[in-house]
Amino acid sequence: MISVWFTDPEIARNHGALDSLPAGLTESSARLRGATAKSGPIVASARTWRRKRVTGPGWIASGDAAAAWDPLSGAGIIRALSSGIEAAQAVLSHLDGDPSAFERYQQICGQRFERYLADRAAYYRAEVRWPDLAFWRYRRDSTWTASTQMRSS
Ligand SMILES: Cc1cc2nc3c(=O)[nH]c(=O)nc-3n(C[C@H](O)[C@H](O)[C@H](O)COP(=O)(O)OP(=O)(O)OC[C@H]3O[C@@H](n4cnc5c(N)ncnc54)[C@H](O)[C@@H]3O)c2cc1C
Repeated sequence: MISVWFTDPEIARNHGALDSLPAGLTESSARLRGATAKSGPIVASARTWRRKRVTGPGWIASGDAAAAWDPLSGAGIIRALSSGIEAAQAVLSHLDGDPSAFERYQQICGQRFERYLADRAAYYRAEVRWPDLAFWRYRRDSTWTASTQMRSS
């Protein structure tokens, strides 16, 4: 059995969450009862981010190399496939002499990411069961969307 838990770094640090399951996770605790951990927790970033420029002279980025999506969206694979196809089409057009092929791909990626941010905010706003928990409260805050990381290259 693999147990995956999504949280924010501050919450994990403040609640010692990596040492034991937080109180209140009754269903998850029941599933894990009697299990022995084979290893300690492995921590990995699952944050939303995007590369500011997804093309440059002689290169083009697609999939996770171009942008990473919230795990709750379950969209990483489908977007990796679709952006891979679009990137391949842009490269073919570019090699055929179309000077704006890379720029069009850049715009498509940017617009898709902006739409995704709006959808993501709407999904998190729709969840109203835990208004007092820091994880959900933070996601209703407008600074959360603004905090999305953007890499310059
Ligand atoms: C734990 C976890 C769970 C996930 N669950 C889901 C899910 O349920 N649904 C979903 O849609 N998405 C999910 N994702 C996201 C999804 O896996 C990714 O968005 C998707 O795999 C991105 O595809 P990619 O081809 O861009 O990159 P990757 O799948 O990372 O492929 C990149 C490949 O390039 C190789 N590589 C790296 N550097 C080099 C190099 N220098 N030379 C040659 N090869 C290199 C790597 O070994 C790798 O095989 C999950 C991700 C993680 C980590």
